[in-house]
This record gives sequence, C-alpha cells and structure tokens, in this order.
Amino acid sequence: MAVDRNPSQIIQKISLNVIDWLFPPACLGCGKEGVVICQECFSKIQVLPKNVCNYCGEFTSKQGRCPKCGSHKPSYAGFRAFAYYTGIIRSAIHRLKYQNDISIGFYLAELLRTELMRTNWQIDVIVPVPIGEEKRKSRGYNQAERLAKPLASLTQIDYQPLALRRIREVGSQVGLDKLARQANVKDAFVAQASLVKDKTVLVVDDVFTSGATMEACSSELLYAGAKEIYCLSLAKVNNEISQIDFLVSNNV
Ligand SMILES: [Zn+2]
Ligand SMILES: [Zn+2]
Repeated sequence: MAVDRNPSQIIQKISLNVIDWLFPPACLGCGKEGVVICQECFSKIQVLPKNVCNYCGEFTSKQGRCPKCGSHKPSYAGFRAFAYYTGIIRSAIHRLKYQNDISIGFYLAELLRTELMRTNWQIDVIVPVPIGEEKRKSRGYNQAERLAKPLASLTQIDYQPLALRRIREVGSQVGLDKLARQANVKDAFVAQASLVKDKTVLVVDDVFTSGATMEACSSELLYAGAKEIYCLSLAKVNNEISQIDFLVSNNV
C-alpha cells in the first residue's frame, strides 16, 4: 500500500498542525498536554485478541468463524475492529461523535489504517456508514465520515460518501436479539450502483455492535452490483451487557 504523501495530505497535515497549535491536544486518558493519547494510556487500550471471528469479532477458539457466523454467514467477506468499545477508545468516540472534534478523526483514522494494513484486503473504494438526514441536521456531521475520509486520504483509496444513503431511521435496537436487529435495519439503506458496481468496498463505522448495520449496508451494496464487501470499525462492543449500555447511552 502506498505511503507517500500527496499534496492534499501535506495540506491536511499543515492544517492539523495549525489546529494543534491553536488548540493543543491533551491526552484523553490522563490530560497530559501535547498528545491525543499518551503512550501510557495507549498501552492500556483493550485491542481485540488474535483469536476472533472474521465476521463478528467475537472471541472464538475455532480459527476464522464462530459457530453463530457459521450457521448464519454474513454477506460481507470480513470484519476487523481496532479495539473494544471501552476506556479511552470509548471516550475518543464520544468526542468524535458529540464534540465535533475534527482532529481526533484524523488521529483515529491512523489507527484504522494500521488495522487495515494487517489484512490482505484489496479495497477499491471506501464508504462510510451513513446517518439519516434528521441526525445529520441535529449533529451537523456524520462521525463515520470523520473516520472514513482521512482513512481514504491516508491510504490513497477512492472515497465515495454518497455510495450509501440511509433512507429510513431505525427504531431503538435496545433489547432486540441479533435477528430482530437485522429486521429492524433491513431496507434502511440504499446503494448507488454507479459508484460501487464490480468494486471491492470497505464500509467504515465508528462502533460495531451486533453487526446488523454492517450486514444491512453490505447486502445493499452487493445488491447494487459491488463485487465484495469488507467492514472496518474503530471499536467493537464486547458483549451483550455492554451492547445494551452502548445502545442506551447513544440513544440507538
Ligand atoms: Zn495519558
Ligand atoms: Zn462470528
């Protein structure tokens, strides 16, 4: 994968340096000045272990696929997440989502790039999971775009934020099992065939909970003619208890 910086990346870097100079970062964990996450706090991040299912990220003793994904194979070809949705990563996502902190998106995109480079996926186009118009109006931006766009820039992969559109807001996912969640998000998205036809697509999101959203995005992209879908999220919710915690605290 190419690592040379192109002119737009250099401008981006300069802009970020200016932002850092005007608003110096402080460690999200301990407040130490000058860094987004200091070395000590970074070492405490709960990254996903090696033995996880390639489709849902759950710990599994069987290499490749857990029993659940064995019986209901997702339509996407693979999934990776950087870390569990806890501690400093949870704080970083809250900042990305609710505090309109642009520079944190660039920092987190570097982590996603590292994760992506551990795979052998050959991606043609990067697409963020979209949010509905209502949410975009109230929040002002889509947090998944704040990760996907700098990731595309860092990896020099084509970026297509309009390839997926959310056409329906979904009801609360709290208390629903995986199949009910899948039914809840079914037909919530529509893909633009001209942007994805015959392409291998990487769908990017901030948090992966049950996988229902990724599955809905993936099946719609495949329906529109995409060749293969991979999913990448910054964080993965660890278990059923923290899933409920995540869904309630994020009003999903
Ligand atoms: Zn720290
Ligand atoms: Zn699985």
